[in-house]
Amino acid sequence: MIQTVNGPIRPEELGITMCHEHLALNLSGVRGDDDSNFDDTDLIADEILKAKAYGVQSIIEVTCCDMGRDGKLLQEYGRRCGIHIVAATGYYLEPYHTDWVKESPVEALAEQFCRDILSGIDGTDCKAGVIGEVATSEPDMAPSEEKVLIAAAMAGKKTGCAVTTHCQMGKLALEQSALLQRHGMNPDKIILGHLDLANDRRYYEEVLRTGVNIGFDTVGKTPYLSDEARADNLMWLMERGYEDKIMLSQDISRKSYLSAAGRYSGYMAVMKDFIPMLKARGLTEETQRKLLVENPARIFDRP
Ligand SMILES: [Zn+2]
Repeated sequence: MIQTVNGPIRPEELGITMCHEHLALNLSGVRGDDDSNFDDTDLIADEILKAKAYGVQSIIEVTCCDMGRDGKLLQEYGRRCGIHIVAATGYYLEPYHTDWVKESPVEALAEQFCRDILSGIDGTDCKAGVIGEVATSEPDMAPSEEKVLIAAAMAGKKTGCAVTTHCQMGKLALEQSALLQRHGMNPDKIILGHLDLANDRRYYEEVLRTGVNIGFDTVGKTPYLSDEARADNLMWLMERGYEDKIMLSQDISRKSYLSAAGRYSGYMAVMKDFIPMLKARGLTEETQRKLLVENPARIFDRP
C-alpha cells in the first residue's frame, strides 16, 4: 500500500506522480525572505489544479519537520484538489536543526520517524508515507545531518518506507548511498534527490551502480541548469537502461517559481515543458510511463 495523507491507497491508484515537491512550506526563518513561505493556500491549491489539468495525479510532499510541514493542510489540499498527497517525516539541512535534533541520540530520531509513519504526525491522524527529504550540505556532511541519515535508514528498515534525500547541488550522493546502506537501508527504497543538478554523466552511473534510485527533480529550475541539459542527460541514462531507477519532479520551494509569478511553470513544468522535450528526443510511451507512474508506484509502496 501507499500511505497518503487521506489514507492508504493501492499502488495502481497512484498514477502520474511528482516525486519531490513542497506544498506546505515555510523556510523564511532560515532564508530570511518571504519567498519560501507558502502561506497563501488559495494560490497553492490553484497551482496544484493547474498541474492536475496536465495529468498529475499524485504528489510526494517532502517537507520535513521544522520546514513548515502541516499534515492538516496537506489533507485539505488532497480533498480540495482531488489528488493523492504523500507526507514526509525527517529533518533537512543542519541550519534547520533545532537543539533537540542536534542533541538527541539517533534512536530518539528514528523513534520519532516511526511514530510519524505508524501513528501520525504532530498528534494528527495524518501519517507520513516517506522519510525525507533528509539532507547533506556540501562539501562536507554536518554531524547532525549524518545522524539524521542514520536515523532515516533505521526507520526505513523497520517500516519499509522509502527514504528520499536532498543532495546539495547533486553532491555527496555516493556518501549518502553508502551511509544509508551501511545502516541497513534497502537501495531499492532509496531516492537520492537533485542528482540532475550534478550535470555529470559518469557520476550518475557511479551512483546508480550502488543500486539506488535518483531524482531528476528540479525540472524547470533553469537558473541552476537548463532543461535541455537535463533532457540530454536523462536520455543518455535511458539509453544505458536506467529507466527503472529515475523519477521526475520540480522541487518548487519558492513562490517565484510558481506559474502565477509569471516566469516559470511551477508544478506543471514536468508535464507541460519537459515531457515534450524528452519525446522530441525519442522517449517512448513505455519509458515515460516508468518515469512518471511505475517507478513511484513500486518505490513508495510499502508493507
Ligand atoms: Zn525539496
